This record gives sequence, structure tokens and C-alpha cells, in this order.
Amino acid sequence: MSAAPRAVGSDLGFKMFDKILIANRGEIALRVLRAAKELGIATVAVHSTADANAMHVRLADESVCIGPPPARDSYLNIPALIAACEITGADAVHPGYGFLSENARFAEILERHNIAFIGPKAEHIRSMGDKIEAKRTAKRLGIPCVPGSEGGVADEAEALRIIREIGLPVIIKAASGGGGKGMKVVRTEDEIAVLLATARSEAKANFGDDAVYIEKYLEKPRHIEIQVLGDGRGNAIHLGERDCSLQRRHQKVWEEGPSPALNAGERDRIGEICAKAMRELQYRGAGTIEFLYEDGEFYFIEMNTRIQVEHPVTEMITGIDLVNEQIRIAAGAPLSLKQSDIVIEGHAIECRVNAEHHATFRPSPGKIASFHTPGGLGVRVDSAAYQGYTIPPHYDSLVGKLIVHGRNRDECLMRLRRSLDEFVVDGVDTTLPLFRTLVRNQDILNGDYNIHWLEKFLAAGGMGEPET
Ligand code: ADP
Repeated sequence: MSAAPRAVGSDLGFKMFDKILIANRGEIALRVLRAAKELGIATVAVHSTADANAMHVRLADESVCIGPPPARDSYLNIPALIAACEITGADAVHPGYGFLSENARFAEILERHNIAFIGPKAEHIRSMGDKIEAKRTAKRLGIPCVPGSEGGVADEAEALRIIREIGLPVIIKAASGGGGKGMKVVRTEDEIAVLLATARSEAKANFGDDAVYIEKYLEKPRHIEIQVLGDGRGNAIHLGERDCSLQRRHQKVWEEGPSPALNAGERDRIGEICAKAMRELQYRGAGTIEFLYEDGEFYFIEMNTRIQVEHPVTEMITGIDLVNEQIRIAAGAPLSLKQSDIVIEGHAIECRVNAEHHATFRPSPGKIASFHTPGGLGVRVDSAAYQGYTIPPHYDSLVGKLIVHGRNRDECLMRLRRSLDEFVVDGVDTTLPLFRTLVRNQDILNGDYNIHWLEKFLAAGGMGEPET
């Protein structure tokens, strides 16, 4: 394969990378690979022995096997990744999402080896990675937060004091939490002792840190998040919001933008608060500031210092390639976009198609017997799957993301309906039937849902079978 002409950055005061190692797998590895190729940058794929035939390995210019199937021995294996960089001469690493994408130590080790980390400064990853610290930082930067404990909660007496101050119900969350794990809702005072102890031991088991904190539990919020970009030199903009309220077990299932619940004034207000905070922080790279939104108020819950699974929603409505921006910024380029360059056009919806049963959500790894993706105007599929591919049981169950754009929400829904009908994945169970049902549901069509809607719908037998 001949290399594309190199992107020239030197005349703008920065040098573009020669070779990027992608420390990830699946669709996000392909996503990064595509952005790198468009910039004329060579790519290195890394893979576990379970992924030797994976699409990201096939499409990269070079590949290195970094270990056996368990992620801790391969995709999380920092010495193996550094060795892969040195062997291939990669001058930058893109971590994707998950795995080492929010690991400040990894970022520091890379920089010590003179390899650029395509992501934020280690100090920002660290301060946002600890959710207690993140809330403190957010508050200091003028971002509205959910009422709750100022820091960690040491014991039952302290929990009780906070609960009496902010009122029940509350939610106990892990300071090092993620993936919606280990959260406990407390509705009565006599539940505190048991739930606090359980939350602590689950936090320790899942994240190796038993620190927990308490927040007011909001009964019917939407999850609305703001995409930001900063260049690390005090320039930062926002790219509008994504509404990720359709969740199962606190995990996003369907994301859309703009939110059916926001108007332009609210978007500009919260967007500007976020952009200003990022300017003050001198934040570098792409990030997402997550809020719960209830009765016209925003409440910060956390910040993700990486590219997110649902970033294509923003790309579809702004036309901006977020991964390209991440790479350019990491290479030292100043932000090329002004806030006034960001124009939201139309509507986009993303469905996360997982290899899971559509009603029981039982994972369904195995061989894909046939695979046909939808196409046509406004339809994008980000997937590393193909006919004959065997989904390994070791990693997450995402088969692909279907992202659809329309000039307005109705057109987007119409296009999504036919795209879902066109999508064929045989041989494994997928969540496609769930989306085909959702896209015909009146509440969804009306945009009338909050973070509990999907759980309630499933519990009421909305998919015809009870969840196991
Ligand atoms: P994680 O990092 O584990 O994903 P988050 O803090 O981002 O945790 O919360 C994930 C989801 O949990 C939110 O989108 C929301 O559905 C629910 N949640 C979190 N905090 C609250 C709260 N204070 N009140 C109600 N629901 C909450």
C-alpha cells in the first residue's frame, strides 16, 4: 500500500506524527486507524492471541502480538505496549476508550519514553479519574454539581449526617468507579449501614479502592453530556450535547444529539460553562463532561478524559472528525476551530449493537455466519466485524454501532427504522430486535424518556421475555 501524502504541520509550528500505535481493538481501533490514514500517518495494531485475525490487525500497516487473551496480559500490559512502540518506532499512542485510555501512569510512562499520548495531560486524567476529586475540580471551575458529600464518606455516622442534610433518597458511588458498577440507592435510613458496607466492598473488589461518596439520587433525570475539545494552551470549545438517557444497568444503549429535551439557549449556556472550565484548566484533547438534567437544571456527575463510544453522534451533527482533532492536538497543533465554527445540523442517533440476547442480555460470543450492514444517505456503521468472524468471549460484546443522521429527528428516526431492518447479523444473538422495537415505541418517538425508562420497559416485559 502506498502512503497517502503526509499532512504538513511543520509550517504551523508543530510536527505531525510519523507512526501511531493503536492500543486497542475492535471498532475503536478501526476508527483511529481511519483517522490516522487520512492524515497520512502509518499505523501499528497490537493484538492478543485471541485477536490474530481481527480486522484492525488486517488493516494496519504493521501489527504486534502483545500477549494472551486476558486483557490484563495484553491490552492492559504496559511493558508489552512500550516494547511494541520501540520495536516499530511508533512516536505516538492512541488508547481509544476503555483499557488504558484513562490511565495517568500509562500516559506518564509513554511521555518518559518520548512517545506522545494522544489524550489529556496526566494530571487531568488523574484528577478526573477520581470522582471525588473530579467533583471538587468541577465545583471550583463553576460547573454545577449534584448535591452530596464534599469528599469520601468514612462511616455510617458521616453518611447519616449528609443524608439528613440533603434528604433521601441518595446514591452511594465508588470514587474510582466506572461502567455503572457498584452504585447503591438508599431510600430509608435503616438501609444505610448495609448498603454502605456493600458499596465499599464492591468498590474494593471492582476498582481496588474502597472510597465511596454520596450524592442526592435524582428520580427522573436525563443523562446529557457535553463534548469538549481543548488544545492544552487555554483554547477550548464545546460541540454541543448528546442525550444518553436510554440505559440498562447504568450503561448507555442508545445515544442521540441534539437532546430532545434541550433548547438552543440551554445548550449554549451549559456548553459555554464547560468550554470556559476547560480553558481555565488548559485542558488538552477531547473530553466529555457528563450531567444529569432534571427540571431545567444540570448536575455534573463525571468527566471522561478520552474519546467516547458515542462520539460519532457529535461527528454526524457537526461534521467534525473528533479523532483527527485529537491527533492534531496531541502533535502540538493549536485548536483550528472557533466556537462560531461549530454549527449543529440535523439530528443523529446511535444504537450500540451488542452480541447479547435482546431480552435476557446473555452474552453471545461465537461465529458470525452472515453479516450485512445497512447503507445509504446519512447511515454510518462503525464495526470491526465481518462474515465468518468469531467474536471472542474475552472482551466487551459490542458488534458495531449504527449511527444515522437526518435533517431533523423525525427524518432520523425514519432512516434508523429502515436501517435497522436492513442490518443482518446471523449466527450470534444481537440486540438488534431491541432497537427495532424501540424505534417504533411512542415514548421514544416523542423523545419522552429518562434514565429509568428502558429498565422499566424491560421489567414490564417490553421485549416479550423477562430479563434473567
Ligand atoms: P459510571 O462512571 O460508573 O458510568 P456515572 O457517575 O457516570 O458512573 O453514572 C452512570 C449512570 O448512573 C448515570 O448516567 C445515571 O443513569 C446513574 N446515576 C449516577 N448518579 C446518579 C444520581 N445522583 N442520581 C440518579 N442516577 C444517577
